[in-house]
Amino acid sequence: MILVNDQWLSRGEAKVDIEDRGYQFGDGVYEVIRVYNGKLFALDEHLQRLKRSLVAIRIKPPYPMEVLEKNLYQLVEHDQLTDGIVYLQVTRGQAPRGHGFPKAAQSVLTAYTKSIDRPLKEMTSGISAHLTADIRWLRCDIKSLNLLGNVLAKQEALEKGCQETIFHRDGMVTEGGSSNVFIVQNQQLVTHPSSHLILNGITRQQIIKLATVLGIPVVERAFSIDDLFAAEEVFVSSTVQEVSPVVTVDKVVIASGKPGPLTQQLQKQFETLINK
Ligand code: PMP
Repeated sequence: MILVNDQWLSRGEAKVDIEDRGYQFGDGVYEVIRVYNGKLFALDEHLQRLKRSLVAIRIKPPYPMEVLEKNLYQLVEHDQLTDGIVYLQVTRGQAPRGHGFPKAAQSVLTAYTKSIDRPLKEMTSGISAHLTADIRWLRCDIKSLNLLGNVLAKQEALEKGCQETIFHRDGMVTEGGSSNVFIVQNQQLVTHPSSHLILNGITRQQIIKLATVLGIPVVERAFSIDDLFAAEEVFVSSTVQEVSPVVTVDKVVIASGKPGPLTQQLQKQFETLINK
């Protein structure tokens, strides 16, 4: 089923207007929420971030978050989804094309489910990453539909035979193409602070909490490309990639070239969290 505002439609019935501002301007925001064992994972955190993104770009959602929450539960139940994701977006709605906010437009919310597997292979073997200049805008904290910078960077990585992009701004690592980046340096976990330069990932937030529980010190500060290459361990985190070790960056082997011990500890702890 596809949820369009408060309507339940089939895939064929759900249509996007040619003047939907999400379609023409990327004028909207989104969330990707994991479903494990039929349960929406970290739903409150995702809805909070959605609210924040909506406020940041001044879109009023079509209905309150409590109604959305109920609808999302219904969506997962209806689709009988056990393991996968819910993709959800809100655009500023349909109006004759023009850059300024339309007075009359009503925001449009769409949500649907997709069944996907956990990234078990990536988690055990590790992934390769490609370093690229972060040429995106300066509000990466908003989970905006404008993903062209990420799309181009990811494609560049894929064409280099890598699975993920690692962005840097003037030599300082910001985040991944669709993930956050962590390194282990002097047995401490280091990751870019939550700022306008990165998306504050829900998985990132969970990992910081888990590390604290495990007694692994966490430092939120920007680190350099040199720090990345010299790291004891590197991993990326996201809703889809979970905790994926990075074993090479542009063909340069990171440390032993295998998932590191702290990364594995965090993976284990994360696993406990999702099985709760
Ligand atoms: N940064 C970017 C640019 C992303 O696209 C994502 C994935 N949505 C993340 C970080 C990780 O966020 P999360 O852990 O909430 O999936």
